[in-house]
Amino acid sequence: MTSLSDQYVQTTFVARCRELWKNWGRYSQERRRSKLKTAINATLRTCNLPEVDLIVGEPFLVAGSWNIRYPNSYLTDQISVDKFARGVTTLYHEGRHSEQWYRIAQGISAGKFRVPTTSLMPQQATVANISNNCAIAFTTAQHAYNNRQHYPQAMDRIISQWYRSIYGYQRAHRGQVLEHLDWSAFFNTHADINFARYLNLPEEKDAYLVQDEVLARLSNHLNMWA
Ligand SMILES: [Zn+2]
Repeated sequence: MTSLSDQYVQTTFVARCRELWKNWGRYSQERRRSKLKTAINATLRTCNLPEVDLIVGEPFLVAGSWNIRYPNSYLTDQISVDKFARGVTTLYHEGRHSEQWYRIAQGISAGKFRVPTTSLMPQQATVANISNNCAIAFTTAQHAYNNRQHYPQAMDRIISQWYRSIYGYQRAHRGQVLEHLDWSAFFNTHADINFARYLNLPEEKDAYLVQDEVLARLSNHLNMWA
């Protein structure tokens, strides 16, 4: 079982980013976007996860259409190496979210978790029910269902935490935290008072941890890049 938390998966992504930064000035904005898309999808493929499209917008995983939003402001000519590093590690963070959503779908497919539903009637773990009730793309649900036997035992505990937070009994709490989060403050200053509660959501705690690991690996190269 390969995961975005694995060291060699992270170092391979970092190597691709370093290559991109070396050629940054020679590429157009669109070329940079397509290079980043290639980099994150190579990472996802290594982990046997479905690939994403990289659309324009503030960094976010759009699970319903299986896209990651990535802003053009991170793709400009004048970008600093620090901003570049923040951008690509944020992309990795969103890629980790895609792994989280996918692993949960694998767990539901394998009968580990119940299909989330607001009614008392249990629902069968079919591809359509998983796609609808988890609000993930049909093709992603299909992919997870077909690979349900590969559900990773070593990640059992952490995937259960994600499930409880996103679809289980903690989802009301999560909804409240997200609802009260000031997204403009979040993207600009990270100064929102709800930010600490946000960082404490199991899926965010994990994604930031993985992002920090990648940033540390990248930072090892920053002097070399300057
Ligand atoms: Zn996140």
